[in-house]
Amino acid sequence: MPKGIIFLADGMADLPLDELGGRTPLEAVETPAMDAIAASGASGTFLTLPEGLPTSSDVANMSVLGFYPEQNYPGRGPIEAVSQGIELGPDDIAWRCNLVTVSPDGILLDYSAGHIDNAVSARIMADLQHEFGSGKVTFYPGVSYRNLLVLHGSEFSDKVDYFKPDSSQGMHLDELRLAPLAGDAKAVHTVKFLEDLSARTARFLALHPLNQGKDAPASHIWPWSPGRKPSLMPFAERYSGRTGAVISAVDVIKGLAKCACMDVIDVPGATGFIDTNYAGKVEAALEALKTHDFVYLHVEAIDECSHMGDLALKMQAIADFDAKIVAPVMKALANEPVIFAVLPDHPVPIKLRQHTTTPVPVAVCGPGITPDGICRFTENEAPKGRLGLMKGDQLMRMVMSLN
Ligand SMILES: [Zn+2]
Repeated sequence: MPKGIIFLADGMADLPLDELGGRTPLEAVETPAMDAIAASGASGTFLTLPEGLPTSSDVANMSVLGFYPEQNYPGRGPIEAVSQGIELGPDDIAWRCNLVTVSPDGILLDYSAGHIDNAVSARIMADLQHEFGSGKVTFYPGVSYRNLLVLHGSEFSDKVDYFKPDSSQGMHLDELRLAPLAGDAKAVHTVKFLEDLSARTARFLALHPLNQGKDAPASHIWPWSPGRKPSLMPFAERYSGRTGAVISAVDVIKGLAKCACMDVIDVPGATGFIDTNYAGKVEAALEALKTHDFVYLHVEAIDECSHMGDLALKMQAIADFDAKIVAPVMKALANEPVIFAVLPDHPVPIKLRQHTTTPVPVAVCGPGITPDGICRFTENEAPKGRLGLMKGDQLMRMVMSLN
């Protein structure tokens, strides 16, 4: 049975741009390797961000892997907790807990506290744990502003609505309050507990020595995307005993993989940016395919360039993805029975600098995939392909030859 590889270009899809003569960045860059997948295979689109869920990469990558986030999304907090190896008990609720900057008059200025330095952030989280940690709450340091908070006890609920801090900058705290869902008494209590904790930690952080004289001090904690210990069906169980490995620089993608009992392959020098170790990722993917039926090769750089709004850098990152990831892997496996698929997880139009829910282009080639005459891999060509709008585990089953 053929093995499968998905090349995942985070945030690659875009919109036509005047400065590119009405073309998208993907159309304007030469991408012979991705075009070869389209030309020798079939194209279509994929709705990766279902209505009613956060428009985040964890949801989108869950969709691509066929894990139905509509039913199974555990929340960002628990996925990152798994990624960090934090054991969650049955009464624990994990929250992402950003360190953020709020102005003295209550405006959320920066979701990242100036992309706070790791060491400073770790120190502040340790001090918060020392001062406020208890049998009810634990603070865990993560990377930079991406920290975690866990509530312990059956008195708490995860049925709490929240604002994503990176989408809420410039708004007043009064408009951004946590809210109990469904009027649940435990959710009401949870909101009250966290509001009280936020107020007390803000007073502590205002006086913290590492915050003095900073343009973007870590003035507040920001709990969001709560959930309980994830219980995803293991990958091998979902896909008829076949095994999968994930290669990514991003914690939340690695956490997702661990939640699905997939093997996570760490690549030294994988940074999540354009300076990432492309050759190392290619080598790791080829090595992983020897011992697994499926490899998910995730590259973050294009997403970062898109959020920065830097068109030249985005185009460079797309060219690099094609030439340094897709091309060498396909070349090395040219004579092997492997099904290849390429797609972004979601668009990040450079003009908007945020995720949109438009279905993404996808192309698949390999044994058993009949070509459909589409010759380029672009946002405009893919929808004309014979695969149509794909959903659920349709793409994964095709890549795993399980149809
Ligand atoms: Zn993404």
